[in-house]
Amino acid sequence: MLEISGVDKVIVDSLLEHGVLASVASYLLDQSRGVIVLTCGDGDQSHDIFSYHVQLQEGRCNYPHPRIHLCAWNGGALRINPASATNRTAPGAADIFLAEVLDASDLKDIPVVVTYCHVPCGKAYAARMNAKEVFEENIRAKKIIKSRKSGIKAACFVQVCREGKKRSYYLVRERWEAWLANVWPNLVLSLVRSL
Ligand SMILES: [Zn+2]
Repeated sequence: MLEISGVDKVIVDSLLEHGVLASVASYLLDQSRGVIVLTCGDGDQSHDIFSYHVQLQEGRCNYPHPRIHLCAWNGGALRINPASATNRTAPGAADIFLAEVLDASDLKDIPVVVTYCHVPCGKAYAARMNAKEVFEENIRAKKIIKSRKSGIKAACFVQVCREGKKRSYYLVRERWEAWLANVWPNLVLSLVRSL
């Protein structure tokens, strides 16, 4: 199984310290009609993400069973971005994947999309992306989806796997902006110096 890089450990620790990655339980996601989970299909991680959403829907879904609709391409939310390095060898892939996600929302009448990225992601590492770039593209994916369908709700989630321990977080957008402006400039300097 892929191990998290040293750089990504530092980035994730900083985001946790500043509350950018927050407990999902604190965020009330409307799952009354279910949820579209846009995620990387990574076979080492998908069961954790899926079962986590089963747990999250307990008592929150108006159906007699969990309603989790998967859109699971390698790289997950990153693939929605036309300019993503993960799409470099697949021109046009972003539009196709976006159409699939919007179609899923229509077909299943589910207005809530969770855009997932995960660290470490083999697709992102193959494209030489660090965690900061991965999270940026996740946020961009959320914006693209929201701009393409009125009434759709989207939230950014992140799954982190370290030393075999897996955990999903909600990415708090406002805190991300503050972290980017106030913490990242010094953090990137220290990362460059340590190379
Ligand atoms: Zn992945």
